[in-house]
Amino acid sequence: MDYYGTEVSKLIGALSMLPGIGQKSAQRLAFHIINMPEEEAKKLADAIVSARENVRYCKECFTLTDSELCPICASKSRDHSTIMVVETTRDLAAYEKTGRYNGVYHVLHGAISPMLGIGPADIKLKELMKRLQGDVKEVIIATNSSIEGETTAVYISKLIKPAGIRVTRIASGVPVGGDLEYVDEMTLLRALEGRTEL
Ligand code: ZN
Repeated sequence: MDYYGTEVSKLIGALSMLPGIGQKSAQRLAFHIINMPEEEAKKLADAIVSARENVRYCKECFTLTDSELCPICASKSRDHSTIMVVETTRDLAAYEKTGRYNGVYHVLHGAISPMLGIGPADIKLKELMKRLQGDVKEVIIATNSSIEGETTAVYISKLIKPAGIRVTRIASGVPVGGDLEYVDEMTLLRALEGRTEL
């Protein structure tokens, strides 16, 4: 039985599709939205549509951006010969927040996971290899310390090493299985500074 009427149920249904949002949170958000001034609700809806329409991958590093090149790849003051490989745009944001990394990034959009059927071709690995044809001195692998992240790190290092490029892995100290996003800045900096050769 539909207690709320079709429109409200539709909104609750749509919100509960979001990650981390269960039925209860979806109901809470739906009622909050319904009680918003109409103008604000419209702004929220517009922001969703506009972000979905205009955000795309940077053609160089594949982070999310709204121009062809993200501000980091477009910057002349960044060291373009050092590439840090991360799993997600959120991981990139976590390292950017430390303000101490001056290289560029490469966002894989995932990690290799035989268990989930995610292979090397399902992440932005080909694209990384293509970038390495340029003037690259070091690749820092900053995938998560989960099994998938480690598998990906080993796989990438085996691919890159024959090219004679220095490959390093951020130090452990990043909690096992922990998303980089939730790690504090000091831990990230220590992990970066304590990186080891692969
Ligand atoms: Zn970029």
